Amino acid sequence: MNVYVSVDMEGITGITHGDMMMIDQPEYNRGRKLMTNDANAAVEGLVQAGADYILVNDSHGPMRNMIFEDMHSGAHLLTGSGDAKPHCQLEGADSRTFDCAVLVGYHAMARTRKAIHPHTIAGAVVSELRINGRPHGETGLNAAVLASLGIPTVMVTGDATTIGEATDFLGNEIKTVTVKESCGRNAAICRPPAATLPEITQAAKAAVGVRGDVKLYTPERPQTIEVDFNTMQQADRAGRTAGVDQTGPLNIRIEGTNLWEQYQVLWAALRSALYEPAVWLQ
Ligand SMILES: [Zn+2]
Repeated sequence: MNVYVSVDMEGITGITHGDMMMIDQPEYNRGRKLMTNDANAAVEGLVQAGADYILVNDSHGPMRNMIFEDMHSGAHLLTGSGDAKPHCQLEGADSRTFDCAVLVGYHAMARTRKAIHPHTIAGAVVSELRINGRPHGETGLNAAVLASLGIPTVMVTGDATTIGEATDFLGNEIKTVTVKESCGRNAAICRPPAATLPEITQAAKAAVGVRGDVKLYTPERPQTIEVDFNTMQQADRAGRTAGVDQTGPLNIRIEGTNLWEQYQVLWAALRSALYEPAVWLQ
């Protein structure tokens, strides 16, 4: 049995502030450790459930946050720049046949109140992302893209808003662990690792068992991905990506019937939007 694990950082046990989440920040090394611990707890549960191959994709910001030398022996770690990962938070999900997927440390979609750093993929550029008109965050989007490969998402961990979002999109059959209750963007009531890590292990072990009961989250085809950007320049840059239609001063659309391919187009468009041109081109 093969299990795919995508690990973000905003929804990790004890992480509430930007000072733990980016390389140049003073508490970053503590954040990395906490992130590695939550991921390892999930891997331990998956190993106990009989997983033979577990691919863990470091899915936050620089995408080389997790401390490799501290990784659980049952995992393989996909680490390295998002610029070299055309499928970003889902890189490698097509590298073999995965039986199910687990999302660890996820966060709520853009514009969610009382959530740690709510955003959708890239808060600097994305104001809102929709599939078939419905706003999606990374949990719903990634579950839909994984479903296009036939992979059910069976477990999500994060703050309370993330878990609410996850069950809204994926149903109550999935296993969840709420590691904190957020008061706002940078503060939360946190459960300590001694409480959350055993729960994450148990949930992961149980999640494998319900993979046959969890329905694939498949938005109706054809699927229309729409993105609203924060600035017109971002939308203009994204709109020049192959496969993207610019539909307004701030808006793009990606039509298709294959979300795995559409996600690759989406990430290429967002990378273009994120890149500021050289000074002489501005
Ligand atoms: Zn993140």
